[in-house]
Amino acid sequence: MSKVVPQKVAVLGAGPIGLEAALYAKACGLSVAVYDRGQIADHIRQWGHVRMFTPFGLNATPLGLKTLLREKPNRTLPASGDIVTGREFRDAYLVPLGESEPLLESLQQETSVLHVGRATKGFRLLVRTAAGQERIDTADIVLDCTGTFATPKWLGDADIPAVGELAARSQIATGLEEIAGERKAHYAGRSIALIGDSYSAATTICALATLAEEHPATWVFWITRGARGQPLPRVTNDPFKERDRLAVKANSLATRCDGNLEFHPQTVLDEVISHGPDKGFRIAGRSNGKPVSWEVERVIANVGYRPDTALRVDGPGYFTLGAKSRDSGFLLRDGFEQIKQTFAAITGNAQLDHYGKKAA
Ligand SMILES: Cc1cc2nc3c(=O)[nH]c(=O)nc-3n(C[C@H](O)[C@H](O)[C@H](O)COP(=O)(O)OP(=O)(O)OC[C@H]3O[C@@H](n4cnc5c(N)ncnc54)[C@H](O)[C@@H]3O)c2cc1C
Repeated sequence: MSKVVPQKVAVLGAGPIGLEAALYAKACGLSVAVYDRGQIADHIRQWGHVRMFTPFGLNATPLGLKTLLREKPNRTLPASGDIVTGREFRDAYLVPLGESEPLLESLQQETSVLHVGRATKGFRLLVRTAAGQERIDTADIVLDCTGTFATPKWLGDADIPAVGELAARSQIATGLEEIAGERKAHYAGRSIALIGDSYSAATTICALATLAEEHPATWVFWITRGARGQPLPRVTNDPFKERDRLAVKANSLATRCDGNLEFHPQTVLDEVISHGPDKGFRIAGRSNGKPVSWEVERVIANVGYRPDTALRVDGPGYFTLGAKSRDSGFLLRDGFEQIKQTFAAITGNAQLDHYGKKAA
C-alpha cells in the first residue's frame, strides 16, 4: 500500500534552511506556507557584516541555484569558491530565493508563529502579523527552522542567568556587533567585557583589538570559562581556512595579551549588575575559584545560543531542522542533507535527488 502523502507543510522560519525546505516541499508537489517573524533570513541580516567561513558553493543547493537561474539566466551569483559576508549571501541568494516564483505566494514575512499544537488531524498554529492580527492556520506537517540566534545562552554559571542579568538583559549585546562600522562610536574608547569562547567571540575580539589600536583608550576584558591558553579549539586540518584563521588570530590575542586586552580564562560569572542605561555595569564572579570583579561600560555576551523549545510538539509530523537541531557546530550543508532525509520520510520515497525527485 502506498504512503498517504500529507499535502500542507508549514515551514517556521525563512532562514537559509527554511527557504530550502520550502523550495524542496514545492518540488515534491506539496503546498507550503513559510512564516518569518522578520524579513527573509532575518538572523543573517543581523550578522550581515560577518564573513562566512564556508564557500558559497557549500551554502547554496542545486535546487536553489536552478530556481534562480531559471528565472534570470544571466543573474550574477558568487562563484562556488567565494567566501562572502552574510549580507552578500543574503542579497545574492536568499532574498531572490524568497522572492522567486515557487515561494513568492507561500512566504509570509513579519508573521510570527506563536504556538503550535496537535489537532485531531494535523496541527493548529497561532500566528500573529506585524499589524498585531492573530489567526489560526493549519498544517499536516510542521518544519521548525526557527534557528537559535534570538535566544542567547545566559552568562551565569551552570547556564542560568547571573544575579542582575535578567534586569540588565536589554543593555547587554548578545549578537555580533558591527564594531568596525555602525557601532564603532558605541565601543571606541570604552571599557568592554567580552564573555565567551565561541567563534562569535573570536570575531568580536579580533574587531575589538583593531578598534583598540585605533582608539587607545579602549580597554577589553576577555572572560572565558575554559582553561588557560588557547580559548578557541582548532579543528585538525580544518577544511575551512577562514574559520581556522579566525581561531588562530583570537588565540594569539589571548596569548599575547598586549595592547589593551586582558584575557581571563577559567572565570565564571555570578553577577552582572547594570547601573542603568548607558551607566555601565559591575560584573563579578570567580577566577580559578578566587573572587574577581570589574566595572565596565559595555558588556558583550558571545556565549552561544540555545533552542527556544516553546514551539516544540513531540511526535510524528513535527520536525526540527537547521541550526535549532544542533547544540553547536551546525553547517548549512548538514541542514541541506536533513531536508532531503526529512522529505524522504514525509513522502515515503527513500531516495530523493537534489531536486526533490525520486532518484533513479
Ligand atoms: C555569525 C555566524 C556565522 C556563520 N557562518 C556560517 C558559515 O560560514 N557556514 C555555515 O555552514 N554555517 C554558518 N553559520 C551557522 C548556521 O549555518 C547559521 O546560523 C544559519 O543561519 C542557520 O540557518 P537556519 O535557517 O537554521 O536558522 P536562521 O538563519 O537562524 O533562521 C531562522 C529564521 O526563523 C525566524 N524565526 C524565529 N522564530 C520565529 C517564529 N516564532 N515565527 C516565525 N519566524 C521565526 C527568524 O526570523 C529567522 O529568519 C554561522 C552562524 C553565525 C551565527
